[in-house]
Amino acid sequence: MASFRFKALEEVLSRTPKQVDIPSDRISDFFASNVFGKESMREYLSKEAFESVNSAIDKGTNIDRKIADQVASSMKAWASKKGATHYTHWFQPLTGSTAEKHDAFFEPHEGSAIEKFEGTQLVQQEPDASSFPSGGIRNTFEARGYTAWDPSSPAFVIGKMLCIPSVFVSYTGEALDYKTPLLKTLSAVDKAAVDVCQYFDKNVTKVISTLGWEQEYFLIDTAFFNSRPDLMMTGRTVFGHSPAKGQELEDHYFGSIPARVTAFMRDFEIECYKLGVPIKTRHNEVAPNQFECAPVFEEANLAVDHNQLLMDLMEKIAMNHNFRVLLHEKPYARVNGSGKHNNWSLATNTGKNLLSPGKTPKTNLQFLTFFINTIKAVYENSDLLRACIASAGNEHRLGAHEAPPSIMSIFIGSQLTSVLKELEVKVKKGKMSADEKTDLKLNIIGKIPDILLDNTDRNRTSPFAFTGNKFEFRAVGSSANCATAMIVINAIVADQLIKFKGQVDELIEKGIGKDEAILQILRSYIVSSKNILFEGNGYSEEWVKEAAQRGLSNIKSAPVAFDAFVSAKTISLFENLKIYSKVEQYARHDIYLELYTKKIQIESRILGDLAQNHIVPTIIKYQNVLLENLKGLKEVLPPADYKKHSLILLRMVTEISERMAIIISKKEEMVESRKKVNKMIDSREKAVAYSDSVKNYFEEIRYHVDKLELMVDDEMWPLPKYRELLFTR
Ligand code: ADP
Ligand code: MG
Repeated sequence: MASFRFKALEEVLSRTPKQVDIPSDRISDFFASNVFGKESMREYLSKEAFESVNSAIDKGTNIDRKIADQVASSMKAWASKKGATHYTHWFQPLTGSTAEKHDAFFEPHEGSAIEKFEGTQLVQQEPDASSFPSGGIRNTFEARGYTAWDPSSPAFVIGKMLCIPSVFVSYTGEALDYKTPLLKTLSAVDKAAVDVCQYFDKNVTKVISTLGWEQEYFLIDTAFFNSRPDLMMTGRTVFGHSPAKGQELEDHYFGSIPARVTAFMRDFEIECYKLGVPIKTRHNEVAPNQFECAPVFEEANLAVDHNQLLMDLMEKIAMNHNFRVLLHEKPYARVNGSGKHNNWSLATNTGKNLLSPGKTPKTNLQFLTFFINTIKAVYENSDLLRACIASAGNEHRLGAHEAPPSIMSIFIGSQLTSVLKELEVKVKKGKMSADEKTDLKLNIIGKIPDILLDNTDRNRTSPFAFTGNKFEFRAVGSSANCATAMIVINAIVADQLIKFKGQVDELIEKGIGKDEAILQILRSYIVSSKNILFEGNGYSEEWVKEAAQRGLSNIKSAPVAFDAFVSAKTISLFENLKIYSKVEQYARHDIYLELYTKKIQIESRILGDLAQNHIVPTIIKYQNVLLENLKGLKEVLPPADYKKHSLILLRMVTEISERMAIIISKKEEMVESRKKVNKMIDSREKAVAYSDSVKNYFEEIRYHVDKLELMVDDEMWPLPKYRELLFTR
C-alpha cells in the first residue's frame, strides 16, 4: 500500500492553477464595495445620523439610542442588498483567533436575524463568553461578557454575514480583547501628542497613530498538510531533516511567483479589495514557499482590523486553491521564520507625518521631538516591548540566527546618529548665545531633510528600525494580533510625551526660551537612552556580548519575558494612562502564560505521538528488511565472505537500535516531565517549567529522528520531507 506521503505527492503534482475572474479591470470599481464606509453611510443615513457617527469616529462622542436605531436599520438595508441574511459582532478575544471562529456566536432569531436588527443589537451583544480566556476575571466577578459596537471601524459583509467590529468586555467592564485597550491607547497618544504639537503648530487638534503591517506567511499544499499531523495540530513541523538545498541560494526571493500561488494571491486580493483592505505589494520571501503581502498604511485601529481580516481571508481562500496558509512564526527548522513588521508613525489632522522632517527648522525640531521621544520611550520600556512580542511561536523564531534577536535595540542610520551626536555636543545646559542657536538651526536641524533623502542604509537585523519617516517594529510574530505591539508602542510614547511636556514646561517657567527648553530636554534624552541605539549586525555573537555590557536585557524565554507585563513600572504606566486596571493586567499576564503552556504541551504531545507511532514502527520495519537481508546473505555466502559483507548491514542495524532507544527513552522522560509540570498550580512556574524542562526534549528527540530520516528507505518514510514541503509545486 502506498503511504499517505506518496499519495499526497501524486495529488500535489497533478494540481493545476485555478481560474480566477476579476470583477473589473479597475480596482476602484469594486474597492470597499462590501464595506459600510463613509460613502455608503452618506447614501443610507440621514444627515443627522451621518454626522453623529462621524463625530463618534473623529471625537469619540457617544451615539444616542435613537440614532443607533437609525444606523442599524440603514446598515440592515445596505447589508441585505449585499445578500446578507445574518449579522454578528466581530471581535478579537485574547485567544488570538480571527473572525471565522466567532461564527458560532451569531444568533439566528428564528432564521431571520437581519429582520430584527435594531439599535440595541447593533450597539451591544451578549455572547456566551465562558469559553474565551479571561484570566480569572469572570470567575471572580460575573459569568457574562458583552460585545459593543466600535463605530470607528466600519461594518462589512462577508458571504451572507454582516460583521460589526466590536469590543469585548466583561460584565463589570474589564477588557477581554485587544481592541478595547487599543482604542484607549490611541486616544491617550492622541491627547499627549496634540499637547506637544502645540509647541510647534496650534492648528493641530488631533493626532492619529498609523500602522502599515507587512505579513509574511508560508503556503503548503493541503495534501501535504493533511499528511503531517504536526502541521495540522501545531502549525509547525516538529521533525524533518534539512533538504539538500535549503534557502542558501536565496533564489526564491527574486524568483517569479508560481502560477498556482499567483492565482491564490489574486483571489484573496480581490476579496481584500472588496472589504476595503488596501493590499499593495506582494512578493516572494527569502525561504522557499514563503511570501509576503503589505497594504498601504492606515489609521492603527483600522489597520489592526484589516490585518485580522486578511489572516482570516487568506486561510479561507487558500482552501479553494488546495493550499493551507502557515502563519506560524517558525514552521520549519533551519529555514527563515515569519514575522509581521509593524511600521508605525503618528500623523496630525493637518496632514503632517510627525516622524517625517519638514521644510523649516521649526518642523524639523518637531520631527526631532517625536523621534527622540520615541527612542527614549523604547529605551525606558524595552522589556515591555520584548514582552508584547513574546509567544510560544515567536520563541522558536527570535534569536535563531536569521530572525531578529530577543535583545531590543534601535537602528536609526548613520546620518541621524551623527545628528544626535552633534546635538549632544552643541546644546548647552545654561543659556545659549545667539550664534550658537543659529549654528544649531542652520547647520544641524535645518539640514535633516536633505540627509534623510539619501538615508538608504537599511539594517535588516534590527528589531526596531527607523526607516526614513516611520519606525519599523520587525520582531512581531507573523500570527500575532498587531494590536499587542500597537498598544505598547502607543502607550509608552504617550507616557513619554506627557513626561516630556512636563519637563519642558518646567524649564519655560524658569524663563528659558521654548526652543532651548525643548533642545535641552531632548539632549538629556539622547544622553540617557543612547545605549539602546545599535547600528551593527543584530544577528552576531559580538552584539550579544556588547548588549550585555551595555546592560540591555536578552530574554530568550517567553514566560520570563511576560514578567514585564506585571512589573511595578508597567502597572503604573497603564494605570496612569487609564488603559488597564491592575486586575486587567494580572489577568492578561495569566492568559498569556496559559496560552504558552497549552501550545508547548500540544507540541510535546504530538512530537511524542509521531515518534512513537510513526517513526518507531517505520524504523523497525526497515530494520527487519536489513535483518532479512543479513539472513539471506548468511544462507548464500561462505562464512568468511559473510563476515566481510555483513559488517555494514550490522552497523546500520545497530545504529537504528541505538537511535530508537534514545528516542523512546527521551520520549518517556518527556512524558514524565510533563506529568510533573502539569501538577504545578502557579501559572508562571508551570509555563517556565514547560519552557525549561519539557521543551528541552524536543531538539534531542528530533536530532535522532532526522538522522534516521536520512537512513531509512525513502519509500517507507511516512512524513512528507522538507524537500517536498518546500519545493514541490
Ligand atoms: P520594506 O520595509 O519592505 O522596504 P516599505 O518601506 O515600502 O517596505 O514600506 C513598508 C510599509 O511601511 C508599508 O506597508 C507601508 O504601508 C508602511 N508605511 C509607510 N509609511 C508609513 C507611515 N507613515 N506610517 C505607518 N506605516 C507606513
Ligand atoms: Mg519591512
